[in-house]
This record gives sequence, structure tokens and C-alpha cells, in this order.
Amino acid sequence: MATTMQAAVLHGREDVRIEQVPVPEAGPGELIVRVGAALTCGTDLKVFRRGYHAKMIRPPALFGHELAGTVVELGAGVENFKQGDRVVALNSAPCGACYYCKRGQENLCDDLLFNNGAYAEFIRIPARIVAKNTLLVPEHVPFEYAALTEPLACAVHGFTDSHPREGDTVAVIGGGPLGLMILHVAALSGCEVIALVKHDGQAEAAKQLGAAQVVQSSEIAEAIAKTRALTGGRGVDIAIEAVGVPAAWQEAVELVRKGGTVNFFGGCATGTHVSLDTNRIHYNDITMKATFHHTPAICRKSLEMIASGRFQASAFITGHAHLFELHRVFEKLMNRNAEIKTVIVP
Ligand SMILES: [Zn+2]
Ligand SMILES: [Zn+2]
Repeated sequence: MATTMQAAVLHGREDVRIEQVPVPEAGPGELIVRVGAALTCGTDLKVFRRGYHAKMIRPPALFGHELAGTVVELGAGVENFKQGDRVVALNSAPCGACYYCKRGQENLCDDLLFNNGAYAEFIRIPARIVAKNTLLVPEHVPFEYAALTEPLACAVHGFTDSHPREGDTVAVIGGGPLGLMILHVAALSGCEVIALVKHDGQAEAAKQLGAAQVVQSSEIAEAIAKTRALTGGRGVDIAIEAVGVPAAWQEAVELVRKGGTVNFFGGCATGTHVSLDTNRIHYNDITMKATFHHTPAICRKSLEMIASGRFQASAFITGHAHLFELHRVFEKLMNRNAEIKTVIVP
């Protein structure tokens, strides 16, 4: 195996460079995976724009977290995998020992271990992720579909955490990759989905992925009025916000019926505050919640969904680019074009 490789290194705000770095070596319990496909992600775009992520990545650091590939090296003590195995390695793993892990809320683990470095020829998978959150990919599933396991797990978590009942009307605000995934998961579960999007490409994708109705508007008041009209003025059972800006959080609260549930799924920038109409929340008995990240069990479920073919993985892959083009790909994503996810091929 070569001793150096090409990898994307995040140096700060809008500063990602492709550099020649040492190929990682597998320590005890670790794996080295040759990246077959890495996917761009809204979180990576946020990180690119802000230059860091409070929980997940601090520069300078290897970058990218959605990947699938082939095991090329095993550290001492690894028994569940062998060379040549096709795997998807998740971007985190919980400790299994803290208060939250013991309560089954592993997404809230006090010591969640994150891994980055998917935009590279090879990536090191830490022992804890090898042990808890690395999954074998069935032969018929392409790497670029398997790499969707991570974002899909977030979407599945956000949807199920909103406690949907069959036939519920669910509004999803935002036509980005996660908004589209949540609406697709909701539609597959038999919910009536109203997608609130801004752009033509998003509206088309939303329809293809099972939205019963699409409200396309960049005017929030208009989007609220149209959505309420679609439910006979009542409002939706569940509103899931997947944008991560205060206006969308406020919008979500305006969309639900009495007794409805709002899920603030999109994370806003650190320090963001939102003002909400307390009377509306109190007298309408509105449940407000937020969902963060995923658990190992949900990751398994989402890979099963991808492998079953029920989940339309191909609809989420809208482009391919070489690692050298990564900076340009992110600049394009910043301009909100119709791309959902770009596969980065090393
Ligand atoms: Zn992601
Ligand atoms: Zn823990």
C-alpha cells in the first residue's frame, strides 16, 4: 500500500485544501477503509461556511463523514471484519456507559466519538466505531447508496421521534437533502406529506419522493396560508423543520393543528435565539421537540431500508466529482443549486 494519499483538509472558513498526507495506519481495534464513495452533506456545507463544528470537527482536520468502502487493513484484535469486506462506517459511536447511553438515548451520549476524513483515498475507523457502528454492505448495494446510511439515520430518527400515527399529515419545511429524506421516509410510512420548498428542483424532487402536496414559496406567510388551506384550515398533525434558521422554526409552530407536534430538526448557528408566540403554544397544546443525530440501532434500520430498495437512494445522488474538485463542489452547493448530494470519488 502507498504511504501517502490525497485527502481534503479543512483549515478554516471556506478553506478546504487537497493535500498529500500519510496513509493512516490501523491501531488496535481499528480499520483502514479504502473510500469507495463519500457524499457531500449539509452539515459539511455548514462546516465549510463556518470553518468549524462545535461538536464534530475543529480545524485543521480531515474532512467528510458520509462514506462506504472496502476494508484494506485490520488492527490487532479486530474479529468481525476481514480484508475486502464492503462496509459503511458511521460518523460516530456512543460510549455505552454514560447516563444517556444506559437510558437508550445514545444519540445524546456524553462522550460521543466522531470521525471525519471521508474525503480521502483512505480513512481510519476508530475502534469504538468499528465495534459499534460499522456495518457490512450487501453485495448488491453500491457504495454511494450505502453511504446514505448516516443522513438517512438522522431522517428516520427525526421522523420516528415525532411520534407519527398512520395517516398523519406531516409538513416538512426545507428541500435540502435532509428535508427530502424526511419527507420520503414519512411518505413510505403512509403519512400524507406536504413539502414546503423554495426552488423548482426541490419541488420536483419532493414530488418524486412521495410528497402528496408541494407548497413552493419563498414567502413564509404565503407558505403558512397555503399549507393550512390544504388541511381545511386546521393545520398539520406534525411539522418538521429541516432548514436550521429561526424563521423556519417559527414557521413550523404556525403550521400545526391544536395538539400537534413540532420537531425543530434543523440545527441553527451557535448562539441563535428564536421568539415564539407563547399563547399559540399554550392554548393550542402544542408539543415542541428537537431531534439530534442517530443511534446504532437506527443506523442498522436505515441501511436495511437502503438495501431493501424501498428507499429511492438514486434520487439523492445528483452528481459525481473527483476529490480535486471538492472546493468547487462546496462553492456550488453554497449557491443553492439543484444538487442534492454529490458523490466524491477519490
Ligand atoms: Zn451528514
Ligand atoms: Zn455514552
